[in-house]
Amino acid sequence: APSLYIVPTPIGNLADITLRALEVLKSVDLILAEDTRTSGFLLKHYAIARPLQSFHNFNEHKILTSLIQRLEKGEVMALVSDAGTPGISDPGFLIIRAALQAGLKVECLPGPTAFVPALVKSGLPSDRFVFEGFLPQKKGRQTLLKKLAEEERTMIFYESPYRLVKTLEHFKEYFGAERKASVSRELTKMFEETVNGTIEEILTHFQAKEVKGEIVMVVSGKDD
Ligand code: SAM
Repeated sequence: APSLYIVPTPIGNLADITLRALEVLKSVDLILAEDTRTSGFLLKHYAIARPLQSFHNFNEHKILTSLIQRLEKGEVMALVSDAGTPGISDPGFLIIRAALQAGLKVECLPGPTAFVPALVKSGLPSDRFVFEGFLPQKKGRQTLLKKLAEEERTMIFYESPYRLVKTLEHFKEYFGAERKASVSRELTKMFEETVNGTIEEILTHFQAKEVKGEIVMVVSGKDD
């Protein structure tokens, strides 16, 4: 049986959790959570009462060895993040690698992640794509954008609402104003919005008002 379960949680709409995810969360000895308050709210909603421990970017190195020892002794744990799938622009990779190296069984449940609905509803080619996650904010951004200007596959980025317009301006500069793109905001939530069009059109749309909420950007590959 698996020692470590990776469990995706909703990216907004609380109903987006699988029956198996709920079963696993109910059954484990310990739930490792990026933010115990956020996950505590979800667990309470589903009347799940299991011990919670924080596991995030700032303590994962420090507590890794002791967690692996506990897994080796037979404890079963689930890892959740604030939203979506752990390991996707979220902590996960370190403990998964360490568990596998220790010969432990790791299972990842399929479930919510923001980039899949954003890609699919963009209407851009989805047979091949690259997930770029968050762009570097300063150092390395130019170099990466120059390289990505030649990318032929559809590209996916996570971005904060405060940097969306700036990043669209960079996309215009490096990919050209006429490149097709799509911006999805607040997926699965009350104010879900997807804007498809050229980079210029999307820029005009988001320049007109204050941008709020969570954002996924999808950009067509070169010569699509
Ligand atoms: N683990 C998550 C996943 O599987 O998608 C991603 C976590 S990352 C720290 C948070 C970023 O994911 C946000 O800044 C945004 O780019 C994207 N995101 C998460 N939820 C979203 C939503 N409901 N709508 C749009 N983007 C979302």
